[in-house]
Amino acid sequence: AQSKSVGAPKIPNVHWEDIGGLQLVKKEILDTVQLPLQHPELLSLGLNRTGVLLYGPPGTGKTLLAKAVATECSLTFLSVKGPELINMYVGQSEENIREVFHRARSAAPCVVFFDELDSLAPRRGRSGDSGGVMDRVVSQLLAELDALNSSVGVFVIGATNRPDLLDQSLLRPGRFDKLIYVGINEDRASQLQVLQAILRKFRLDPAVNLQEVVDRCPAQMTGADLYALCSDAMTAAIKRKISLIEAGLDSEESPVLLSPDDFSSALEN
Ligand code: ATP
Repeated sequence: AQSKSVGAPKIPNVHWEDIGGLQLVKKEILDTVQLPLQHPELLSLGLNRTGVLLYGPPGTGKTLLAKAVATECSLTFLSVKGPELINMYVGQSEENIREVFHRARSAAPCVVFFDELDSLAPRRGRSGDSGGVMDRVVSQLLAELDALNSSVGVFVIGATNRPDLLDQSLLRPGRFDKLIYVGINEDRASQLQVLQAILRKFRLDPAVNLQEVVDRCPAQMTGADLYALCSDAMTAAIKRKISLIEAGLDSEESPVLLSPDDFSSALEN
C-alpha cells in the first residue's frame, strides 16, 4: 500500500530561472548533488554525501530549491511532510519512514525532500515523549540514512525553520551533514531578482517598472510574500479586465496584462 503522505515520484518542473537570488545557495546545492552524479569516481575519494539540510524562515524558497535541483539533475522527486508520517499506532511511524526510503530506492536516482524535519526528528530523550515514540522514530530515520550511500542514487534534502530543535545526531557525517541557510532577501537587488523570477510566468504591461514596485515594498519580503503580491496584482488585473469586457471595451481572447495600477492596488492591500 502506498502512503498518502508521499506523492507519486516524478521529475518536477522547477528550473533555476524560477528561483530569484540565492546564488550562493544554488551553487552549494549543485555542488552537493550534481557533482557526485557527474563524477561518480569522486565517490571513492570520499565525496559521499547523502543529505543536505536547508534551514531558515518560512517562505524563503527551500521547497523550490529542492525541486529545482531535482529538475536540473533529472532526478525524480519525493516530498514528505514530517508530521504526516507520525501516526498514533505503535510502530506505524517507523513503518512509514521505512516505506519512504523503500520507495526512494525504487525511484532512484531521486531526491527525497523532508519538509518540517524538526517534527520528525526532535531531540531524543526529551520529557513529554510518552513511551519514547519519537525516540524510536528518530532512530529509524538515522538507521535509514546510514544505510544509504551516494552510489544508491538517493539524495536526501531536509528543510526546517527550527534547526535548534533537531536531534543533533542527524547532523553527523553521512547524514544531513551539509547545512545551508536560506534567508530572507533583505536587499532590493535580490528582491528584484525574486520578483523577476516569479513574473516569468505572467504577462506584463511594458509600462510596469519592477524596480519601482520593489522600492515600494516593505523592507523584508520573503519569496512567498513577493509571490502573494504578484497574485494580488493578478487578481486586480482580472477584475479590471472583467469590467472592461462587460463594458464592451475588451475581449476574452486578449491576454491579461499586469499594469502598474494592478501592482499599486496589490501594494495597498
Ligand atoms: P516553508 O518553510 O513554509 O515550507 P519554503 O522555504 O519551503 O517555506 P517555498 O515553499 O519554497 O518556501 O516558497 C513558497 C513560494 O514562494 C514558492 O512557491 C514561490 O512561489 C515563492 N518563492 C519563495 N522563494 C522564492 C525565490 N527565491 N524565487 C522565486 N519564488 C520564490
